[in-house]
Amino acid sequence: MLLGVGETVRYTFRLRPGAAAEAALSAEWGRCRWLWNEAVHQQRSGCRPTFGRLSKLLTEARARSSWLRDGSQVAQQQTLRTYALALQHSFRVKGRGRPRPKRRKDALPSLEYTTRGFSIRDRRLRLPGGVTIPVVWSRELPSDPSSVRVYQDCLGYWYASFVVRRETAPAPVAEGAIGVGWGVATTTDAAYDLPYLGHRKRCSAELAKLQRRMARRRRSKGAPPSNGYLRAKPQAAKIAKKAARQNTHDARVWAKKVVDNHATIAVEDFQPTFLAKSRMARQAADAAIGAAKRELVERGMRAGRKVVLVPPAHTTMTCSQCGTRAKHRLGPGVRVFRCDTCGHTACRDRNAARTILATAERGRAGADDVRHAITSSRGGALVRSESEIPRLPAMGKR
Ligand SMILES: [Zn+2]
Repeated sequence: MLLGVGETVRYTFRLRPGAAAEAALSAEWGRCRWLWNEAVHQQRSGCRPTFGRLSKLLTEARARSSWLRDGSQVAQQQTLRTYALALQHSFRVKGRGRPRPKRRKDALPSLEYTTRGFSIRDRRLRLPGGVTIPVVWSRELPSDPSSVRVYQDCLGYWYASFVVRRETAPAPVAEGAIGVGWGVATTTDAAYDLPYLGHRKRCSAELAKLQRRMARRRRSKGAPPSNGYLRAKPQAAKIAKKAARQNTHDARVWAKKVVDNHATIAVEDFQPTFLAKSRMARQAADAAIGAAKRELVERGMRAGRKVVLVPPAHTTMTCSQCGTRAKHRLGPGVRVFRCDTCGHTACRDRNAARTILATAERGRAGADDVRHAITSSRGGALVRSESEIPRLPAMGKR
């Protein structure tokens, strides 16, 4: 289905497979996992597996083995396609390692089907081999899906993630600009701060209790885990997952609110090392600040907003009123910024957020207009338009 102006997105739904369907999915995953590991082996023994070569091998293997023939060809081909893509990326993307074997004990099932392999009938997901699975349709699909990924999470729940096209709803008209610093997401306007709710902290005692229970029941290597251990493990995982989901939800709601109401969004280009070892770091880790930033940048770009990433150097020690940089770094315990030149006083993080916005706005004028010290540092590291943000015009000095 083709729409005029649209975007390709994933819609994910919970699946409720019965015992037979779950067994079928697990068996399917077993075969796909075996194929993936076979491809890894090929690569490690110097065979340079491409998708074409791997599909040929798959055809031969399916002719020989009835075990493979029992599984869906679509799922098996898609596994190899994913593998070939992962291998390609490992050469092109810096820091990405070669695909590794998927071990039975810790690789989570993930199966991919194209329209040749799946259909939706009577509101159920139908997969090859007569497998039908009820779907929890929490919302309607905007168009016919072009593919689906069926996967299981670490709690054992199954999901179907459909790839669909949808029309883009135009973002609400907005004016104004906002600066976002990551001292637990303080913005230029207090109404738009990301609230720190400490989801992980709230359940840390409960989690620790279960982790202790697991530790007491852990058996030596090679021995099968005890029933007590097996009971405690999913309980601990469930608590951790719940906190993570609450964080994701908060970040999404917050990012939407910020993006809907601002035309320009200046974001501190947060580096995790900047926050190392402090109370702030714990709070930031608790609220999953990195994920919140990703969400904000992505949403801003999708809505066609002007998203600017500002390097974090000296933002806390520069006055947002007059632009003077303080002689000394503010200690982590100092919560109030006080300017020695103009006497401006503000909350430390609020001042930093305003400096970030000011830097972004000055960056638009060009490198020569920027007089202040923030920009002369670090080899002219000015407002950076990251390669990941292609829509931004090149700003300032490169
Ligand atoms: Zn000042």
